[in-house]
Amino acid sequence: MYTEDQFIQLSALQHYVFCPRQCALIHVDDVWNDNVFTVRGNILHEKVDTDTYETRGTLKTVRALKIHSFRLGLAGKCDVVEFRETKEGIEILPVEFKAGQPKQNISDEVQLCAQALCLEEMLNTRVMRGAFFYGKIRRRVQMELGDELRRRTEEIIAAVHDVVERKFIPQAKYEPKCRSCSLEDVCQPKAMNERKLLNYLKELYQS
Ligand code: SF4
Repeated sequence: MYTEDQFIQLSALQHYVFCPRQCALIHVDDVWNDNVFTVRGNILHEKVDTDTYETRGTLKTVRALKIHSFRLGLAGKCDVVEFRETKEGIEILPVEFKAGQPKQNISDEVQLCAQALCLEEMLNTRVMRGAFFYGKIRRRVQMELGDELRRRTEEIIAAVHDVVERKFIPQAKYEPKCRSCSLEDVCQPKAMNERKLLNYLKELYQS
């Protein structure tokens, strides 16, 4: 069990899946830069994070719900959680709003699954599904929260705790994704590659 001062932010999981170095720069070194992608996301979340709820028939919709897990050492917020009354009981569905479209990596799925794990602990229940609303395709996509995703999510949570607890900043490695990273100016992955090459050449000529 973790204590509140050991909690990591839910957003750290997405950062870690995108790049462990980006996660460490943000959550260990407190570095932050906005770019067009982060600004788009912020604008969308300003509209969604209204801290309200409404009831329509058997459906209650809660916005900007604060969540946490002491077992996983995790805290954050759900954009929306739907509570629907069914014959079997209350079905709980976290819904995450994304400005773009479905990603190539699993960061969105991991974020949603981590939200579900928090809700399960807080409400002592099981959350079977979650959903995304993607702004670019203007469509809601529902997904099952299966065992494999839960296992992978818990692995990533443990890896982020390790980075934060050890204050470990992984080395930069220039990859195509760096072009869309808001921290490229701070991280300077190309310079790191050049430094590695220079060190390699130095060692080669000295031997
Ligand atoms: S610029 Fe590249 S290596 Fe550096 S933090 Fe961003 S994604 Fe990671």
